[in-house]
Amino acid sequence: MSKHITHWIGGEAVATAGAAPRRGDIYDPATGRVTGQVDFATLTEVDAAVGAAVSAFSEWRHASLAKRSTVLFKFRELLNDRKDELASIIVSEHGKVHSDALGEIARGLEVVEFACGIPQLLKGGFTEQASTGIDVYSIRQPLGPVAIISPFNFPAMVPMWFFPIAIAAGNTVILKPSEKDPSAAQFLAELWKEAGLPDGVFNVVHGDKVAVDRLLEHPDVKSVSFVGSTPIARYVYENGTRYGKRVQALGGAKNHMLVLPDSDLDLAADAAINAGFGAAGERCMAISVLVAVEPIADELIEKIKSRMATLKVGPGCNGDSDMGPLVTGVHRDKVTSYLESGVADGAELVVDGRKHAIAGEDVNGEDTVDGFWLGPTLFDRVKPGMSVYNDEIFGPVLSVVRVDSYEAGLQLINNNPYGNGTAIFTNDGGAARRFQNEVEVGMVGINVPIPVPVAYYSFGGWKASLFGDLHAYGPDGINFFTRSKAVTQRWLDPSHGGINLGFPTNA
Ligand code: NAD
Repeated sequence: MSKHITHWIGGEAVATAGAAPRRGDIYDPATGRVTGQVDFATLTEVDAAVGAAVSAFSEWRHASLAKRSTVLFKFRELLNDRKDELASIIVSEHGKVHSDALGEIARGLEVVEFACGIPQLLKGGFTEQASTGIDVYSIRQPLGPVAIISPFNFPAMVPMWFFPIAIAAGNTVILKPSEKDPSAAQFLAELWKEAGLPDGVFNVVHGDKVAVDRLLEHPDVKSVSFVGSTPIARYVYENGTRYGKRVQALGGAKNHMLVLPDSDLDLAADAAINAGFGAAGERCMAISVLVAVEPIADELIEKIKSRMATLKVGPGCNGDSDMGPLVTGVHRDKVTSYLESGVADGAELVVDGRKHAIAGEDVNGEDTVDGFWLGPTLFDRVKPGMSVYNDEIFGPVLSVVRVDSYEAGLQLINNNPYGNGTAIFTNDGGAARRFQNEVEVGMVGINVPIPVPVAYYSFGGWKASLFGDLHAYGPDGINFFTRSKAVTQRWLDPSHGGINLGFPTNA
C-alpha cells in the first residue's frame, strides 16, 4: 500500500489544502520503486504551522524547567524503545544500512540526553554588589518559534541536532525536513505527542523552496537552523538575515584525510574505507579526499583496493550489507558522471564502482535491478582543478591526491574552500599537534576519520561549510536558541542616592 505523508501542525496530521495539492514521490532506493507521496506545503500550511507555534509559545516558554526536562526524558525513553522501527523507516527511504540508521539515531539521542540537562545549562551568572547595593545577573530566554530545515542524508539525526535544545530552552519549532525521506520527521512528531509535549510546540511542514522561502520571510519565525548544500546554505543565510533572523546555515564539505608516512597503514586503510564509503559517501563528514604523503601512496592504495573488493553492496534492510544504494536515481546518475569526468580530466580510475556486484533482494522479496546503485569507486593521481577534486560529489567516490610533504598536504587542505571535517593519521604526536593548530577546518580527527563531536561540544565547519557564528548543539546550541538578558537590580535601602543625572558608573 502506498503511503501518504502529510504535515504535522498543532499536534495533528494535516494535508495540503486544495483540490490538486502539489506532492512529491517517495522512493525505496534499493528497488527504485515509488512507495508513497509527500504533500508539499503552500503558504497556507506554513502559516498555519507558524501560527500553531506562536500560540504554543506563550505557554511553553513559561513551562518550568522541571516540566520541560520531564518531557525530554520521556521522549528519550520512547525513542530509545522504538529506535529499530525508526531505523527501518530511514532505511526504506534513504537507503543506508540498518546499523548505520541506528547509528544516526544514537547520535541524535545524545543531543536529547544533553538537552535533558537544561536546568543546569540555563544557569546564568550572578554578581553580588557590583556597585554599592547593586547586583547584576544574566538570564537566558527563548527566542520564540524557530525553523529547522534539514537535508536528506540524516533524516533523524540532523533535526535532532537542533530541536531537543530548541524545545528544552522554551522555543517552539517548525521543522521542514527533506522531501526525499520525510517519514522520520512524522515518526518523531508522534513520539513528542506521546511524550506529553503540548500541541503546537513541535510542528512539521513538508515541501520544497515554497515552504523554505515562507519560513525565511515569516515575521513570527525568529531563527533558522539550516543544514544542506553550500549554495542553499548561503541563500538561506543571506535571506534569513535580510529578514532580521538569527541564522546558522551548515553547508557542504570536501573532507581530506592526511596520511603521514609513519602512520599505521592498515589502520589508515580501514579508516578510509569506513569514512569514504559508509552511507555510500552521503555524509557531510565523509572522507572524500585521501592525501597520501609519499612514499606510502602505492602501498596504501593496494590495502584500500583489497578491502573495497570485500564490501557487500546491497539493500540496507539486509543485515549483511555494508553499503546501500544512493538516495535517488538523479543523484546516482550525477555521482556516476564524475567517474567519466575524472577520467577525462586525467585521474586514474583504480576501482570502478559501476562494476561492483549488487547483492540480495529488497526486504519484501522485490528485485533490486532498478535500485539506485553505485559501488565504491577509487581514483588515484587526482589534482586540484579536476571536477572530482573540486566538487562535493556526495557519493562513494574516494580520490587519492599524492603529495611530497606534510606542508604540501596542509596547504592543499587549507586552500580548499570547504572546512567541515578533516583527519590526520600519524604516530607522531608533534605532527598531529601541529596539524590541529594549523589546519583551517572546524572539526579535526587525530587517527579518527569521522570526528563528529560529542553532544556537549558543538558541531560545525569553517569557511563555505558554515554560514553564521554559532555551530550546532552543545554550548553553541544553547546560545543559538536563547537570548541573554542582563539585569541590574537594587532594592531600596537607607543609602539610596537621590537624583543624579550622570551616566551610571560602578564607583
Ligand atoms: P539540499 O541543499 O539540496 O537540501 C537541504 C534542504 O534545503 C532540504 O530541506 C531541501 O528541501 C531544501 N532546499 C533544496 N533546494 C532549495 C532551494 N532552492 N531553496 C530553498 N530550499 C531548498 O541538500 P541535500 O541534498 O538534502 O543534502 C546533502 C547536502 O547537505 C550535502 O551538500 C551535504 O554536505 C550537506 N550536509 C551538510 C552537513 C553539515 O553539517 N555541514 C550535514 C549534513 C548534510
